[in-house]
Amino acid sequence: MIIVLRPNASEHDLEQIVTQVTALGLTPHVSRGVSRTIIGCIGDEDRLREVPVLAFPAVETILPVEKPYKLAAREFVARDTEVALGGAAVGDGAVHAIAGPCSVEGRDMLLETAEAVKAAGAVALRGGAFKPRTSPYAFRGLGAEALELLAAVRETTGLPVVTEVLDTRHVALVADKADCLQVGARNMQNFALLTEVGESGKPVLLKRGMSATLEDLLLAAEYVLARGNTQVMLCERGIRTFERAMRNTLDIGAVPYLKRETHLPVLVDPSHAAGRRDLVPALALAAVAAGADGLLIEVHPDPDHARSDGDQSLTLDAFAELMDRVRDVATAVGRRVAETATP
Ligand code: PEP
Ligand code: MN
Repeated sequence: MIIVLRPNASEHDLEQIVTQVTALGLTPHVSRGVSRTIIGCIGDEDRLREVPVLAFPAVETILPVEKPYKLAAREFVARDTEVALGGAAVGDGAVHAIAGPCSVEGRDMLLETAEAVKAAGAVALRGGAFKPRTSPYAFRGLGAEALELLAAVRETTGLPVVTEVLDTRHVALVADKADCLQVGARNMQNFALLTEVGESGKPVLLKRGMSATLEDLLLAAEYVLARGNTQVMLCERGIRTFERAMRNTLDIGAVPYLKRETHLPVLVDPSHAAGRRDLVPALALAAVAAGADGLLIEVHPDPDHARSDGDQSLTLDAFAELMDRVRDVATAVGRRVAETATP
């Protein structure tokens, strides 16, 4: 249930209503828009009927939220959520690029990649320390050592770092070094992990599960939001369909759909969708035209010798070239590309 206040409602009016809602055992979420303040209420909505909320002169109307997710619903919050990533604000309307290797393989390759993606316009560095791999015998990341390398490269370049956390036991360790915690496709419905990252105090990049519906994704985000963490970005990264030509099928329609359904920023990862580097630019450009708030792109100085996902990783030059085209498409659709944050 959402209580919409009149534009002239005072702080005192707001406090009075919040007190009433709390006394009924519901949790109020106050959200201030440009012209109106709204109070989203979570809990047993029937209890709200016990008090004539509409009788408060400051209340304009009461609206039900007919969706299973509440905190993630666009109606529930008066303005778009912006997620802080270093100096950047993902969700502010600009296109934000987050780029880097699939996995952190060592200091030199990480630094070289970070400097190149920064020069090309990325606002953050990605790089896996703990890697979810289909085979237990594949390279599973350098773990804690990679976290140290990411933190050191952030010091040198000023780029904030995004890295995946696979396990509830590692949330504190990863949160200590990273600027943003990635929850991967394979963990999108790991509810214990979602709860932990919700309590970490760090921004979260939540990737869509490969067989998850958009409602599943929004409900997964709801788990994080319900722990008081409003800094959540969603990421479409391709889903499993009958099509085998590419690694996954990029659901481009997810972008405009999610932008309507939720106030959270929506990113697209064209790398894991395509699975091959020659198709990554076209998918990235389509995502920008469709309204994505950002791109998550795998980049490697020597993709043919990468320890994971080399086939879909762009070279440093190819990434720089892509960013020029991203700027062209952004301009063509009346958008802009976020500038690299300076240290
Ligand atoms: C990744 O970003 O490196 C990754 C493992 O992605 P996903 O969880 O989407 O497969
Ligand atoms: Mn990868």
